[in-house]
Amino acid sequence: MTTGTDPLVVRMREFGTTVFAEMSALAVRTGAINLGQGFPDTDGPAEMLAAAEEALRTGHNQYPPGPGIPELRAAVSAQQQRDWGLAYDPDGEVVVTAGATEAVAAAILGLCEAGDEVVCFEPYYDSYAASIALAGAVRRPVTLRPDGAGYAFDPDELRAAFGPRTRLVLVNSPHNPTGKVFTREELELIAELCIEHDTYAVTDEVYEHLVFTDAPAPHIPLAGLPGMRERTVRISSAGKSFSCTGWKVGWASGPAPLVSAVLRVKQFLTFVNAGPLQPAVAVALGLPPAYLTGLRDRLQTGRDLLAAGLAEAGFRVYPSAATYFITADITPLGGTDGIEFCRALPERCGVVAVPTQVFYDSVEVGRRVVRFACCKRPEVLAEAADRLRTLAHA
Ligand SMILES: *Cc1c(COP(=O)(O)O)cnc(C)c1O
Repeated sequence: MTTGTDPLVVRMREFGTTVFAEMSALAVRTGAINLGQGFPDTDGPAEMLAAAEEALRTGHNQYPPGPGIPELRAAVSAQQQRDWGLAYDPDGEVVVTAGATEAVAAAILGLCEAGDEVVCFEPYYDSYAASIALAGAVRRPVTLRPDGAGYAFDPDELRAAFGPRTRLVLVNSPHNPTGKVFTREELELIAELCIEHDTYAVTDEVYEHLVFTDAPAPHIPLAGLPGMRERTVRISSAGKSFSCTGWKVGWASGPAPLVSAVLRVKQFLTFVNAGPLQPAVAVALGLPPAYLTGLRDRLQTGRDLLAAGLAEAGFRVYPSAATYFITADITPLGGTDGIEFCRALPERCGVVAVPTQVFYDSVEVGRRVVRFACCKRPEVLAEAADRLRTLAHA
């Protein structure tokens, strides 16, 4: 009865191996420059790395407290107060998680009953759909479409996505893969609908510090809007801010009942994580703002290098206001399918990108759009841009 059939539970069967794995393997096999997966090729702040080394050598190698070490919870709380004017009590309103990924999963698993609906914006980060499915919940995607100035959603589509079964809305701003920063007007509509339908909000703000100086709108945490703090789980992580994506140190903040729900699930997923890295992230969060503005400026320069190469190659480049990424339409190059295009790109010019259609339920919307990472050293991005330029003459 059991052996010989697919052992995987039905609710996970729609999720294959991620396209990142395929494209990264392709990069290794062909020696191409990997602008697929979004990880930096430089290390984070020296003070943070030194603190981690020190912690490893000075007895911080056992289980930390369930909600995270007090120094890190205090640093997370202080950072949100300093940067966004949001007050969270480090005792009870902040929990440390195994990256933002676990925080999102634990929030969805802890708040959604089977059959509850989760409104989210597509293209979405790939773990969202899987976490919603694991909870037995149902995703209700609202589509972000290029509108000339960036990406936007149709307010009526968002209104229609909310209904009696809506349990929460999942908002990722600044947004991966589009580089969109949700505007105050957009966030106000989301807030209005959350309040009207009495739902929760879960916000993924891992790129909160990486908004470019020429962005049309600043980053605004949804939790700061009137009536939203009490219903929002606000999530962020050290990975993107401090160039340590392999550390998987994230956190969730919110009113105590919501944070308790996250913690209840987290304690049976991982219990605790990253003991010796937690004090190091606390150090990083306390660094002067110059570290993060410097990182943002390097990313912005990288984005510009890449955007110029892509435009000269013939791509229709969409403006990116934030994050590690830039997206581009392959239609002017004769491309009709992002997956095929990305599979062929290493042979054509020695660069790896990822198709964005895998982040959509409405696959057609993303079929001709691919994503490039600009979180690499300038010389790597300059070389990638030169290689991409050769597509113009091919
Ligand atoms: C990278 C990323 C994450 C994952 O963060 P971790 O802290 O590594 O788990 C979550 N959300 C978005 C939008 C990301 O780009």
